[in-house]
Amino acid sequence: MIKDYQIKSIDNIVCLPGTGILRAVVETPEDISELFPYINGYVKKARYLPKIPWIRFPFSGFPEKTNGKYDIACRPNQIILGKFSSNEEAKDIVKQAIDFLNFIYKNRENITPSLKEWSPPSAIAILKYLPQTNCGKCGEKTCMSFAVKLSQGEAEVEKCADLTKNKLEFLREVL
Ligand code: SF4
Repeated sequence: MIKDYQIKSIDNIVCLPGTGILRAVVETPEDISELFPYINGYVKKARYLPKIPWIRFPFSGFPEKTNGKYDIACRPNQIILGKFSSNEEAKDIVKQAIDFLNFIYKNRENITPSLKEWSPPSAIAILKYLPQTNCGKCGEKTCMSFAVKLSQGEAEVEKCADLTKNKLEFLREVL
């Protein structure tokens, strides 16, 4: 289905500046949104918002090699992938992600699609897991404003440096 794609950029993740952690932005001439319900049915922990449409899911490479090390967010003509430590890794995983999406397309008749919509946790619910010291290390003035950004998918939970390991893992799980 995806024959051509273009890597528009490989650069630092906006909300993790200076960390050397990269993301890749890929554009596809084809509208890939018809795949989203199939991805939602196939991938555990996919987060699907059909009204946008948008889907985000952990990615393990294709064929699967590791356990959800990467992260993919798709819109109809755009795929954003992370987190990479080098341009070479980014290019390699972009290719594997395209192979995976084409695999979903080829096998869609054998996959039960799911229209189940993801409900992101509220900022108030997230705040309970943050240190609530308002230290500002994440770039936000308060933990509440960081929680709002997390609930909207506009921040990376790793930016809060003071989270305990358990809380970090929990928030990664639900966000
Ligand atoms: S780094 Fe963590 S504790 Fe500090 S303001 Fe941000 S969310 Fe709150």
